[in-house]
Amino acid sequence: MIEIRIHGRGGQGAVLAAELLVHAAFAEGKFGQAFPAFGGERRGAPVQAFVRLDKSPVRVRYRVYRPDYVVILDRTLPDMIDVLDGLRPDGVVLIDSARPPATLSWSADAPVYAIPATAIAMEVFGQPLVNPAMLGALAAITSEISLLSIQDAFQRRFPGSLGEKNGLAAQMGYDHVLKPDVLPVRVTRSPHVRGVGQASAPDAGLGAPGHPLHFGLVVAPRTSLAYPTGGWRYARPAVDADICNGCGLCVAFCPDSSLTIVEKQAIVDYMYCKGCGICSKVCSRGAIAMMSEEG
Ligand code: SF4
Ligand code: SF4
Repeated sequence: MIEIRIHGRGGQGAVLAAELLVHAAFAEGKFGQAFPAFGGERRGAPVQAFVRLDKSPVRVRYRVYRPDYVVILDRTLPDMIDVLDGLRPDGVVLIDSARPPATLSWSADAPVYAIPATAIAMEVFGQPLVNPAMLGALAAITSEISLLSIQDAFQRRFPGSLGEKNGLAAQMGYDHVLKPDVLPVRVTRSPHVRGVGQASAPDAGLGAPGHPLHFGLVVAPRTSLAYPTGGWRYARPAVDADICNGCGLCVAFCPDSSLTIVEKQAIVDYMYCKGCGICSKVCSRGAIAMMSEEG
């Protein structure tokens, strides 16, 4: 049996990817299971999906704790959660990233394939639909499921031209991995991985004079204080101090209480701001621009 753990964010299609992998396995006469694990948060929150594939019926029913393969659909995730947790010694990692894997933060040593799935998706769909390229790459790396079965699974789910586009993106992911110069990069554990093992007890004096301010505060155990949700952002709000007049409209609309006004200036708490962009939309002065986290 092989076990696969897919990490993504809500809305990215980790669950669909898991489901289609198993459909592809069924078409090849194999057995499998796919199921997700969600937190209590919204679109953009980290999610996991689990896959087991075998030649015999799969009877175990629990999360994948010792994956043979880890598939990461969002390159910001290694910075905030332990995506390599439990990876088997001979396990392999795939991540959607155009950057060399060694430039990312990793919580363990592992061989990592960087797949330019977003670039492929933008070329094929004009949108960052990374699933097909990642599954195509997985097919090339594992040889557990054929590319054709994955393409068929997409075609059955999205009949017509959309299915064909998915098939093309899967082919491009597959072909990328088979290029002679594409090899897994052996990454090593980063000395400090943000978000891993850092859930901390709330500071009793939080916000009091002389104590740090964290505006995104929900005063119940294990809620926002314990989770620095700023790591979920794709884009960050940047306030232009010369334009902002401190009217406070953005503060009123921020769904995560991550803005406050200090000396007639809007200040963002990047520890908790999830980058929804609402503040930028509501500011009638155009004082807030959303900037890519990747620069
Ligand atoms: S809404 Fe715009 S002008 Fe008003 S406080 Fe926020 S950033 Fe400043
Ligand atoms: S982008 Fe703006 S509105 Fe959204 S969470 Fe961050 S500060 Fe709040």
